[in-house]
Amino acid sequence: MAESTPQERLRRVISGLRVFAEEAKESFAEGFPRTAAAADPPAPATAPGTFASPRGEAPQEALRAIRQDIGDCRRCKLAGGRTHIVFGVGNPEADLMFVGEGPGEDEDRKGEPFVGRAGQLLTEIITKGMKLRREDVYIANVIKCRPPENRNPEPDEVASCEPFLLRQLELIAPEVIVALGKFAAQTLLQTQDPISRLRGRVFDFRGAKLIPTFHPAYLLRNPSSKREVWEDMKVVRNLLKGEVRS
Ligand code: URA
Repeated sequence: MAESTPQERLRRVISGLRVFAEEAKESFAEGFPRTAAAADPPAPATAPGTFASPRGEAPQEALRAIRQDIGDCRRCKLAGGRTHIVFGVGNPEADLMFVGEGPGEDEDRKGEPFVGRAGQLLTEIITKGMKLRREDVYIANVIKCRPPENRNPEPDEVASCEPFLLRQLELIAPEVIVALGKFAAQTLLQTQDPISRLRGRVFDFRGAKLIPTFHPAYLLRNPSSKREVWEDMKVVRNLLKGEVRS
């Protein structure tokens, strides 16, 4: 067979790319960003592999789709006591995401995470400590409904809700995740290690860097621990600038 010319080879490559683009368009139209996570049990947080980021495909819309899937959720017993489902807030393309435990009274009333006293402190950490705007980052919780009397979330409640957090993480695909407090850190890292052992370290979480730190509510009770959180935030800033490798 005669050698093909560079022009013919280029035409074949372009035609192959067109077919690929058409197929990719179809899988996105069928809901690629909304794959199994909500229905299937979440993969272990420490599982190898990275999130496939569907960035660029209207992330705000994709987040809205996750919220729609949550719907008027009745998947666990927290539904009965809540005022609002507290989904999350911020930039859907944020490089930095904060994950807390679950809504408290103020958050339940307003439908937005971290708006009470602990939330004000978190906002200060973001604005004064990190020199970012609150709307530049994304903030969510492990569970989206307030537990009665702010008790710790129970395993069945986490099991119902965590898949939605994992989908938010997958979609937003932040470079750095800050796990606020023992509960978020233990849930995401699938460990029972105390926060005192987890903080001060950088973990890999499906390709993102995960920094456990003290919860702002703990800092309100123990202001002397702000120094450690400040150290953690310096690590976060350097990670965002690409200056720290774990
Ligand atoms: N504590 C949390 O963990 N999350 C909130 O949204 C508020 C307080």
